[in-house]
Amino acid sequence: MPQHRYLLTEDKIPKRWYNIAADLPTPMPPPLAPDGSPLQPEMMTAIFPMELILQEVSQERWITIPDPVREIYALWRPTPLHRAAGFERALGTDCKIFYKYEGVSPAGSHKPNTSVPQAYYNAQAGVRRLATETGAGQWGSSLALACELFGLECKVYMVRVSYDSKPYRRVMIETWGGECVASPSRETNAGRAILAEHPDSTGSLGIAISEAVEDAATREDTNYALGSVLNHVLLHQTVVGQEAVEQMQMAGAQPDVVVGCVGGGSNFSGLAFPFLAQKFAGADIRVVAAEPASCPSLTRGVYGYDFGDTAGMTPLLPMHSLGHSFVPPSIHSGGLRYHGMAPLVSHLVHTGMVEARAYRQLDCFEQAVAFGRAEGIIPAPEASHAIRGVVDEVERAREEGVSKTILFNLCGHGNFDMSAYQQYLSGEMIDSDFSQDELDHATAELAQMPALPA
Ligand SMILES: *Cc1c(COP(=O)(O)O)cnc(C)c1O
Repeated sequence: MPQHRYLLTEDKIPKRWYNIAADLPTPMPPPLAPDGSPLQPEMMTAIFPMELILQEVSQERWITIPDPVREIYALWRPTPLHRAAGFERALGTDCKIFYKYEGVSPAGSHKPNTSVPQAYYNAQAGVRRLATETGAGQWGSSLALACELFGLECKVYMVRVSYDSKPYRRVMIETWGGECVASPSRETNAGRAILAEHPDSTGSLGIAISEAVEDAATREDTNYALGSVLNHVLLHQTVVGQEAVEQMQMAGAQPDVVVGCVGGGSNFSGLAFPFLAQKFAGADIRVVAAEPASCPSLTRGVYGYDFGDTAGMTPLLPMHSLGHSFVPPSIHSGGLRYHGMAPLVSHLVHTGMVEARAYRQLDCFEQAVAFGRAEGIIPAPEASHAIRGVVDEVERAREEGVSKTILFNLCGHGNFDMSAYQQYLSGEMIDSDFSQDELDHATAELAQMPALPA
């Protein structure tokens, strides 16, 4: 019987975050101010504490994790690495499949890996309150928890469609002391403007980000926190991959392929970056990012500058984007419904270091159910895209007549997503689509953005 779990002791919680910016084979284009001029770090001080701004632009390979953050990490870290022996059997493959399981955190996903340091640095800087957006509620609940632990108030703008369909995440936010409103809301200019034009708006992450940024920018006591996309968020998630490197060694295995799902790119990067460091040093590893076919920024978006939010309040980020006005069709993977992508992930895809694939919701749920039956853990709908990507790799290995070792990030459990599973099991789930016209319309705006440096 193969061993099922590889566990590390508490002293193996990483002491440093790994900053991939120090090792990129080609440099990244810089972010720009909203008007296209160079972005000065000082411009970000209205909404971020200086420590996080410095991490955002750092070129240091290693950044020390503060002790109070490691102490909180110890509530659930190190997380287990599992061999998916049951799923291998169910697939009838001789490929070895491993997964890093981030669902053991209090919020049930990888998100507290960054909410905790973000709340910590804000508290250190004397900030009293944080404002943020949330899609499915994973980020909002993770930030509410972190704020509670460091004595901060927390205000969450939750995408309307999830606010209505996932009430339990909202209750989690409130249980951890946060305040939650549906977005678009009547509490901000950005929200009121959207509602004036689209009274029935189901919301989007881009809209909710505009609301939270406006909240933070207009209140002296409030900063903004983002759950994905930015360099410092991806940095914090690298505890995942650092532990996995060590656990794969315990298992006597080296991944041929590393797979993660991508919304803004943080859980994928957290697992993949330490392995990409090995790839930069010559290791033969493929790295695959799996996104939803209904929000396909990497596979159908445009690589260039775009705003991170709908209202155009954030800096311009160099990234794959569907256009900041694009409102993705509602899918159960609320955490993957983002029009853009982390600049680091975009750059790595653009330079051929990372492959991108898009998968349809029904195909993902089919594999999520198969995985849950074989392994016991019911995956978050977002994570089912990574599982679909793994199955793709297994099928390719079979065609090529080879056996591969595949590692993926099971970034969260789906215990709050039973309505989605119910829809799938009762045959009522559909693959929602957008029209090419809608996409063309939203990406047309990108032609007016500054060009990427050659
Ligand atoms: C938020 C979330 C995602 C998407 O965000 P990334 O930054 O791309 O990781 C994926 N899975 C889960 C479980 C999430 O909560």
